Amino acid sequence: MAKRSIRVVVIGAGMAGILAGIKLREAGFDDFVIYEKADRVGGTWRENTYPGLTCDTPSHHYTYTFERNPDWSSYLPPGPEIQDYFEGTCAKYGVDKFIRFNAEIDSAEFVEGRWHLHLQSGERDVADVVIAATGVLHHPSVPDIKGLEDFRGKLFHSSRWDHNVPLEGKRIGVIGTGSTGVQIISALAGKAELIEHYVRTPQWIMPVDNTPYSEEMRKSFREDPAALEAAMKTEEYLASVNSYTQVITRENMDAAQFWKATCLQNLEESVTDPVLREKLRPDHEPLCKRLIFSPDYYQAIQHPQAALVPEQIERIEADGIRTGDGQLHKLDIIVLATGFKADQFMRPMQITGTNGVTLESLWERRPKAYLAISMPDFPNFYMLNGPNGPVGNFPLIDIAEHQWHYIAQMLEKLRNGDCTGICASAEALEAFEERRIEAAKKTVWFVGGCKSWYLDAEGIPSSWPWDYNRFVAEMQQPKWVDFDMTGT
Ligand code: NAP
Repeated sequence: MAKRSIRVVVIGAGMAGILAGIKLREAGFDDFVIYEKADRVGGTWRENTYPGLTCDTPSHHYTYTFERNPDWSSYLPPGPEIQDYFEGTCAKYGVDKFIRFNAEIDSAEFVEGRWHLHLQSGERDVADVVIAATGVLHHPSVPDIKGLEDFRGKLFHSSRWDHNVPLEGKRIGVIGTGSTGVQIISALAGKAELIEHYVRTPQWIMPVDNTPYSEEMRKSFREDPAALEAAMKTEEYLASVNSYTQVITRENMDAAQFWKATCLQNLEESVTDPVLREKLRPDHEPLCKRLIFSPDYYQAIQHPQAALVPEQIERIEADGIRTGDGQLHKLDIIVLATGFKADQFMRPMQITGTNGVTLESLWERRPKAYLAISMPDFPNFYMLNGPNGPVGNFPLIDIAEHQWHYIAQMLEKLRNGDCTGICASAEALEAFEERRIEAAKKTVWFVGGCKSWYLDAEGIPSSWPWDYNRFVAEMQQPKWVDFDMTGT
């Protein structure tokens, strides 16, 4: 039977949007466009260019399964290498010609069975299906610190690094102790006159060996893909992934001992000054916040041109940062490594589905979607890495591939003419949310009482609250009874 011709709009040409492009082509969809607001692909890897940027998950796991990269320079390769990987893969799979750059979408409305999209340029497009691949962490979170605008030096967010500002001979303050702040300190210690790290909450630091891969190893990975897969899935790696998940879901709190003991040993053995060591000692459960993997943070913070500032920030003044003990720390540059608003997704796009339902009204309390992918009243609108989607520390690239496998089955139904509209039913979403929130309240992110970007405005963890295997099982095939289908 002849297939229906379906027009697909993908929003965003980051890791997930490129994946969508590759998979659409592979499945023979040739009427699609990827709208990208910037002038290059890459998403996170295009926007973040701060010194020390690396992946915080192992590089060989941070690739598409169908496009491994035997040439990563190390376990945690630098950001520009990852950007090159995405640009290269995009070109190799012929996706670039489907991308419209500098094309930001303002709104999308479902009218008479199709999505009508308005671009900022004034242009319009009409599509049968919209795939939102807009990323999770891309709206900078600017902290509510008094006097931010009073600073006379240079101040910028880590994801908006100003490369015109020279660092040599400067006094730099970095606020924030997530992966970003830790990576910046590691990169800049000794490269500036002074680098101060403002640490409100000390983090557990997991040691990691980031020795570069030798040419010999890379050659063996190039010549033997099976050797690469085997190197990725060593027993040690699989055991640690399993144990990590068990701690998050609190199925086996004995497993927490391994993480705590390893991080504790790292702290005790790496930091020689007992006073500094105490200042760096976390007081929360490991994994209660996203665990930081770093080969060199403790070495960096002990550099003679680096300093830890554990005192709370009172305010920012013209010349620097005033801390709670009354001291003014004179600075030339302040970097806000203060993370992202993790609840934005496609916003500020205005999206209106059937019956006049808007995204803002559906998400009034919190962002939600059935299995992170589909929403009632938003037929044929699907998300990659949508709300409550991240699974533990697993790379989002792997998550997106599984989600695509699921979405592709809905696209096939539409293309086969089985129906013209598919979205999760309101009942299915509410039942899913109930189960999800109940499970989320049992995770270490909730029980541990930490603050982190994993929590929504009401303090409910907004990540996948079950284990990875359950996620993979759920992504195998849609349960069609959970979907409303129109035009059958
Ligand atoms: P983050 O983990 O959300 O950390 C934000 C930091 O800013 C926290 O230490 C927080 O302190 C601090 N902070 C916020 N407001 C503050 C204030 N008013 N005063 C003092 N400190 C304040 O952000 P991130 O480091 O950018 O990382 C976000 C996520 O991005 C990571 O978890 C990771 O998933 C991803 N990431 C990935 C990579 C990679 O793979 N390349 C690299 C970096 C980041 P509190 O802890 O006290 O709240």
